[in-house]
Amino acid sequence: MHGLMMDVPLSLPMIARRALSLYGGRSIVSRRADKSLHRTTYREMLGRAGQLARALQRLGVRPGDRVATLAWNHARHLEAYYAIPCMGAVLHTLNLRLHPDDITWIANHAEDKVVLVDKVLWPLWEKCASRVNAQHVIVMTDDGVVPPGTLEYEALIAAEAADFAWDDLPETTAAAMCYTSGTTGQPKGALYSHRSIVLHAMGEGMLCALGLSERDTVLPVVPMFHVNAWGLPYACAMFGAAQVHPGPHLDPASLLGLLQDERVTITAGVPTIWLGILQALDAAPGHYELSRLRTMVVGGSAAPEAMIRAFEERHGLHVLQAWGMTETSPLGTTAYLSPELLQKDANTQYAYRAKQGRPVPMVEVRARNEQGIVDWDGTSMGELEVRGPWVVSSYYLTEGADDRFTSDGWFRTGDIVTIDRDGYVTIQDRSKDLVKSGGEWISSVALEGALMGHPDVAEAAVVAVPHAKWDERPLAVVVPRSGQPFDEAALKTWLGERFAKWWVPDAIVQVETIPRTSAGKFLKSALREQFKAHYGSADNATRGG
Ligand code: ADP
Repeated sequence: MHGLMMDVPLSLPMIARRALSLYGGRSIVSRRADKSLHRTTYREMLGRAGQLARALQRLGVRPGDRVATLAWNHARHLEAYYAIPCMGAVLHTLNLRLHPDDITWIANHAEDKVVLVDKVLWPLWEKCASRVNAQHVIVMTDDGVVPPGTLEYEALIAAEAADFAWDDLPETTAAAMCYTSGTTGQPKGALYSHRSIVLHAMGEGMLCALGLSERDTVLPVVPMFHVNAWGLPYACAMFGAAQVHPGPHLDPASLLGLLQDERVTITAGVPTIWLGILQALDAAPGHYELSRLRTMVVGGSAAPEAMIRAFEERHGLHVLQAWGMTETSPLGTTAYLSPELLQKDANTQYAYRAKQGRPVPMVEVRARNEQGIVDWDGTSMGELEVRGPWVVSSYYLTEGADDRFTSDGWFRTGDIVTIDRDGYVTIQDRSKDLVKSGGEWISSVALEGALMGHPDVAEAAVVAVPHAKWDERPLAVVVPRSGQPFDEAALKTWLGERFAKWWVPDAIVQVETIPRTSAGKFLKSALREQFKAHYGSADNATRGG
């Protein structure tokens, strides 16, 4: 219709132009493999990104081609984040924590044409290289020496002019892709559009999310190969926040050093990282000066309430829980407190901050069980479904219809949740992790959270184990805080005070470590396998019940 607003395409060059014209001097700090720090600015980083875009064009990369990265978080990786999509190609971040066979499968499924590899990751790439059909391999290194048959990143871009145009692209152009880690089956590709990334970046800046601005300095601990570091490399540039990247050094001391020295205001990562940081802070109270740090965003798996409390009460640090998935770009919900909750007592507030929270603007949620859409009553469980402009509508190159997409346009997350009257979502489990005992669901996440609130427990995971009478019964594995044997009966009493009797695990087993996925989540499939005969022979058990 005549007289409507401009039809400006929402594409990443718009973010690049903004950062160049308004935030050119803002800093980007990266820790190199040798632990020294590299400092640059948006102006310089985007200048080099433009040169990289030209170099890729010269190598024959065409619009729509996939260009992969196998790299830690650092400024060169950031250059690839802008160069590849802004020249019309697709940035495909490979997960360096996967097995070489999986990396190979994923790179071939995506038909990656060019691969950019960190030199420190060369031993990993070598195990994939001969089986992947990439035409060129570009190696990123500080010493200029690269393996035979590969291109050296610095030499490659130095040959190019710095006049890349940063022209808009049609907003539905594919910009980036990320494969799910495959903990729930074969890896599947989520393909993000320019439009979805721009809207997601804007969403991340909102107050109920990160409340980003150019006063912030952001350290994404979440890797750039995991859902685009939760979109932070784009959101920061849009709002002018400085960026700090930890490179390969994710140990608590290295991270705490960066948080302190670079005066970081916002950081983000999975609970595993923060549990390690918490231990380091507890071991050296007052050692780090972190008064500028205003938000630690925790997502990827449930942030235990005890951890949220410990950071706040012992170290004055604020945790914001967020929920999301590869398929949702990932921002879905945040546990941002409403004004009504801010009036409530501290215990109530902590309980709400340990929920996954309410959907951010533009994201809608509902939950469904066998009876249909469940009431927002805080107790009825159902599978969470989401919808929004940064939620995938299908997987990349998969045959046929996928039952994760409903006929009326919602995405089925596989997470089992309750939603309360105010719209706060609580994850009870992933559907495959639920414990079904005597036909009733038991939330392993709730039991884990309570166990991790016990002073003797460092980490806890709860899994379903086949049981002759009840079909399945919960079993807990626990890593004790002190490394000392713990009192199983006391832990059961602790749980009995908090849950119905039939929820309490029949056995609580001590372990040294809990196996983890590539993203640092508990690998429950391995635990289920390990303990499958704990309540009697698995064969007997499946015949019972
Ligand atoms: P993968 O599916 O391989 O684990 P994702 O990173 O896409 O990779 O994981 C998304 C899942 O992680 C969600 O479906 C949910 O089960 C879990 N998750 C993410 N954030 C949270 C959170 N704050 N609390 C509990 N679970 C979470």
